[in-house]
Amino acid sequence: MKIYNTLTRQKEDFKTIEENKVRMYVCGPTVYDYIHIGNARPLVFFDTVRRYLEYKGYDVKFVMNFTDIDDKIINRAIEEDVDYRVITEKYIEAFKQNAKSLNVDDEKITHTKATEYIGKMIAFIKGLQDKECAYETEDTVFFSIDKAKDYGKLSKKNIEDLQAGARVDLNEQKRNPMDFALWKKKKLPDEPSWNSPWGEGRPGWHIECSVMAKHSLGETIDIHGGGEDLQFPHHENEIAQSETLHDHPFANYWMHNSMITLNSEKMSKSKGNFFTLKDIEKKYDLKIIRLWLISSHYRSQLDFSEESIIAIKNSYDRLSNTYDKLMQFKDIDLEDSKTNTEEVDILMKDFENAMDDDFNTSHAMAYLFDLSKLINISLKESTSKAFYEKALETFMTMSEILGIKYDEYISDLDKEVMDLIDQRNQARKDKDFAKADQIRDQLKKMNIELKDTPTGVTWKKIK
Ligand SMILES: [Zn+2]
Repeated sequence: MKIYNTLTRQKEDFKTIEENKVRMYVCGPTVYDYIHIGNARPLVFFDTVRRYLEYKGYDVKFVMNFTDIDDKIINRAIEEDVDYRVITEKYIEAFKQNAKSLNVDDEKITHTKATEYIGKMIAFIKGLQDKECAYETEDTVFFSIDKAKDYGKLSKKNIEDLQAGARVDLNEQKRNPMDFALWKKKKLPDEPSWNSPWGEGRPGWHIECSVMAKHSLGETIDIHGGGEDLQFPHHENEIAQSETLHDHPFANYWMHNSMITLNSEKMSKSKGNFFTLKDIEKKYDLKIIRLWLISSHYRSQLDFSEESIIAIKNSYDRLSNTYDKLMQFKDIDLEDSKTNTEEVDILMKDFENAMDDDFNTSHAMAYLFDLSKLINISLKESTSKAFYEKALETFMTMSEILGIKYDEYISDLDKEVMDLIDQRNQARKDKDFAKADQIRDQLKKMNIELKDTPTGVTWKKIK
């Protein structure tokens, strides 16, 4: 299995630190607003990575943080005149709702909150200060990037160019314009703050992820993921802090998903061409959006357009029809004859090869469509049991890995029976017992037996 590593700019064989175990950290949202479609891409993609790694037999620990203390959160709390935790709790809840609708298995994600790691962040910063890699000024504790080995190695930025371009605010008392805040001292009287050796204050953004990754997964982790916009400065700074303190690599594989554009322009809040999932959900089912998000390779840009979503919706409907067809055959006694299931096996192998090649979900999806076509052509009453079982299992496995969810299949018979039961209930309510009995007889002729229970009417088919 190969993964493209941003650190080396090439596809590398995937080797884990501990056999069969994957420790994966992905940067999560700052919880001050509803998540937008750009945040949904890493969420869905890394959920798919987790699903596939588990399919391959790895035991995966997947950690994603919530940044629940930050300037934007504090400003939102001031605007709404509430405690900052009212804001963060509201948007964490909204995030979880969205994750569920995107069919992201949130139970498999360990969410860490920055505010629960403040003591450990202070200890980490102290460690850097003891190594003389951090220094205190009037209002901040800074990391000294001159002390970091290979600063810029992830984003491949040239530090001298960066320094020349950096805007220096003289009040900041930085030794190097690229130095960044580890600890921000309290400025406003009712600002949320914690005690520290540098007085009351709160942590900077970058330190959070270094500390949460270390304490939830270890000093060196297998995979660190996030959007490509986080490469610099966020991930570069995480590497600088962690590797300076620990003297060994922070993450072995750095994976970055590309951005989502709208009419080929970068989406951003300031441009107003920006959609929250809350808005998108009014128009489209988020399980279709999930499929759309993985329809391109994660390192390719994805352009948001109505046409592309409609095309995916049509593709989803085709898969859903195949699923219904498979369900219709569930109770049919198929022939026990031996048949070749080789074609199905080959498609599964192709699917795995695509996923093994740096999680090429776009190619993997194409094999699922090929399987869907094969099922539609081959599945007849004369089909063998062996083919049916293999096709069903493979179709469900591929769908499960990609996180495609189908609506529960309801047969025409189910629909008809439920409709008659509703009519009978209504007749009884109206005290029209003759009609109620007549419907019961009608169902009897259909070999349906009704049972009145305290919680309602249940039914079964008698042979
Ligand atoms: Zn982060």
